[in-house]
Amino acid sequence: MQIEKVYEPQRFEPHWAQWWIDSGIFRASSKAPGKVFSLVIPPPNVTGSLHIGHMLEHTEIDVTVRWHRMLGDNTLWLPGTDHAGIATQMVVERKLAEEGIKRRDLGREEFEKRVWEWKAEYGDNIKRQMVRLGASCDWSRERFTLDPGLSRAVREVFVRLYEKGLIYRGEYMVNWCPRCHTALSDLEVAHSDVAGHLWHIRYAVKDMPGRYLTVATTRPETMLGDTAVAVNPKDERYADLHRASVQLPLMDREIPVILDELADPKFGTGVVKVTPSHDLNDFEAGRRHNLPKIQVIDENGIMTAAAGPYAGLDRFEARKRVVADLEASGSLVKIEDYALSVGKCDRCKTVVEPLVSTQWFVKTKPLAEKAIEAVETGKIEFIPANWSKTYFEWMYNIRDWCISRQLWWGHRIPAWHCRECREIIVAREAPERCPRCGSEAPVQDTDVLDTWFSSGLWPFSTLGWPDQTEDLSTYYPTSLLITGFDILFFWVARMAMLGIEFMGDVPFRQVYIHGLVRDADRQKMSKTKGNVVDPLVVTEKYGTDAVRMALLQGAAPGTDIVLTEERMESSRAFANKIWNAARFLFMNMERSGVEPWVPDRLEDYHPQPDTVTLEVPIEDRWIFSRLNSCAEQVNRAIETYRYHEAAQVLWQFFWHEFCDWYLELKKLDFKENSGLTPGWRNILAAFETALRLLHPAMPFLTEELWQRLGAQAAGRPLSIAIASFPKYRQESTDFAAEREIGLVQEIVTMARTLRVEAKLDPKQQLEGTLYSRNDALEVAKRHATAIQKLANVKLEFKSEAAPKSSAMRSTAQFDLALQLPKTQEDAQRKRMEKEREQLVKNIANSERQLADEAFTSKAPAKVVDMIRTKMEDYKAQLRKIDDAL
Ligand SMILES: [Zn+2]
Ligand SMILES: [Zn+2]
Repeated sequence: MQIEKVYEPQRFEPHWAQWWIDSGIFRASSKAPGKVFSLVIPPPNVTGSLHIGHMLEHTEIDVTVRWHRMLGDNTLWLPGTDHAGIATQMVVERKLAEEGIKRRDLGREEFEKRVWEWKAEYGDNIKRQMVRLGASCDWSRERFTLDPGLSRAVREVFVRLYEKGLIYRGEYMVNWCPRCHTALSDLEVAHSDVAGHLWHIRYAVKDMPGRYLTVATTRPETMLGDTAVAVNPKDERYADLHRASVQLPLMDREIPVILDELADPKFGTGVVKVTPSHDLNDFEAGRRHNLPKIQVIDENGIMTAAAGPYAGLDRFEARKRVVADLEASGSLVKIEDYALSVGKCDRCKTVVEPLVSTQWFVKTKPLAEKAIEAVETGKIEFIPANWSKTYFEWMYNIRDWCISRQLWWGHRIPAWHCRECREIIVAREAPERCPRCGSEAPVQDTDVLDTWFSSGLWPFSTLGWPDQTEDLSTYYPTSLLITGFDILFFWVARMAMLGIEFMGDVPFRQVYIHGLVRDADRQKMSKTKGNVVDPLVVTEKYGTDAVRMALLQGAAPGTDIVLTEERMESSRAFANKIWNAARFLFMNMERSGVEPWVPDRLEDYHPQPDTVTLEVPIEDRWIFSRLNSCAEQVNRAIETYRYHEAAQVLWQFFWHEFCDWYLELKKLDFKENSGLTPGWRNILAAFETALRLLHPAMPFLTEELWQRLGAQAAGRPLSIAIASFPKYRQESTDFAAEREIGLVQEIVTMARTLRVEAKLDPKQQLEGTLYSRNDALEVAKRHATAIQKLANVKLEFKSEAAPKSSAMRSTAQFDLALQLPKTQEDAQRKRMEKEREQLVKNIANSERQLADEAFTSKAPAKVVDMIRTKMEDYKAQLRKIDDAL
């Protein structure tokens, strides 16, 4: 029963974190009974350490998972990490650079070896942190996207999609990062608006002296690669130029005028230059018109030989020279300021260069159709629901997915090229010879797959697919996905497409999209702003439970979460309050000779009657009724992802009802050496139930206290984490008890308020009178001892109307008057005048509402009645105040 004076979570949190894992209680079994609840983690990048956004995500997941586990469901939370292709490669490259080593000098094999070494050293970071933060995952099922099993799934999916014609290799304009040397998907390009220029250049029309066509461009250096200019066929201004050609300045090249919708007559001069090698729209126009492609910028961002005199220059340097030369030659008509959107590599911030290259693509339209249907028909539900709109917008406009990356870290594309006949062989295993010409040892494609290709398979590859495992048939489809909106397309949409394609069913039934964690000024957290909250630092400072609670309090669906030091501090105070309540109980148990005890059947405990009165003490009836209401609300809140509501209800219950009232009422009759009285049983059962209610939100504190209560003894669950979660039971609701204790609370609160207003010391006992002419008087009398003690007031009870008095407060039920020292009377008068003003306002409001026929005819009768009753109450109170004044 010894319990430390001070709540120091650091003393016990690491212990329970490890104990939960060692005891195996988070291990799922496909054979376990109960409804299945399964969830896969959004795999954090193996490069990383957890940031506060992860902690929010994992806290929300953990609350839901722990709740399901306690409900007796067959619960699986599958953890793991993502190899994070480009991100990881960059981290390791940077580390090698510090040693003066370049990736290309090492060679592919050696470099990959170094990444694996790096992974072995740092790859467990995430797991260690998650364990410490109490994530109740099944670590025996931990996965990594480059595990042999998952790699097999990747190859299988690739081959099947290829055989179905849904993967193809093609020449296409891709976003190219000249620094990372790889193609990027549209999603990996970050666009930002910059102040640029629009250069107007004129091209002389061939054989029509004095006739020019003026084009405008934001990238003048690309004109070196122009292979046409386009006008709109309907544009009357250029009707005479339909077969004409123009002279390309600086390059001494003749290029045709083509007719294409690409040129918008309403925009500028209505003439556009066409550079098929360096712009996506021009690339497509070039295809329509069979234009040659002249690549003037290479994969390093350097001008090629085709750029003539500009060859070898950096692309931005070339821009300056081209502009200067155009100006000198008289071809530059004007320069305008122009705001444009520039795409940069999401990883390294280098300006992306659109380049034509041969890449692997997934044909996404046929996959997207089914994934759209799944959301339309409700097979996948987004919460909040408006995210489905964002999802549809993207899915309806989906473009083929470029899945090849020119990296070394990742899943190598399972395609082999024949050195002789150039046949491409897509296969699960390396072919020994070319099936077409028979030549030996075809060479594997050097590209790797986009990292989202493997994470797109995560919900089924982690469960053993392509093998038909028991895990797969038990836990797929998963029940829920909790993730951030930033990976809705990267990941959620791809999982939906691939899950439906390969499993014939959706990968998850619900997707809960959580918000961002922001600082006290509602600013996004970022390293550059220096407002980042490190989860490990704050959990060390306040305790994991307090940080979890602070996050949950703000976690309303559809909103961002504001995390402040104050909130974490107050959450720590909340934990401390519970600690002190336990300490108070344990100390009194010792004095009363009570051993640790909890009821045999936790889930259907009913408060016991007193051995003398043979009645259940009213405060016990009350606390079990309140517990019941709390259970109802918490269950509903967690079920609907209203984590903030669950947190508020628990806070309100534990702090204000259990600690502030119940224990205070109980304090009145703790007797020394009384043994395990029914009263004690009721307290301990209530406390134990409350701990279980709080467990998903604050797992460490509740486990610590639950174990100290001896709740795990003989035949009961090993841990609170697998004890049953309290459910609402109609028979525990006791309105009579709630009304009665409610009245006691009202009287005590009122007396305390009067005392505070009069600025009197709480220790100074006051005298007063309670007036009531209805049954409130009897109730108050029954609880006279409690009221007088809790309010520190000596009371008289009178069944008569209250006389005029200044220090008085009134309800429709009773009047409470305190005798205050003379000096306080002025303050009381002021207070009453203020109160009078408010009452007059309230009455006027109610009268206005009741006089408004449009309102009274539409509002439910109940509401109108309520307003009328309230108005009568206001009037009664006003009369009393007027008398007193
Ligand atoms: Zn880059
Ligand atoms: Zn061949």
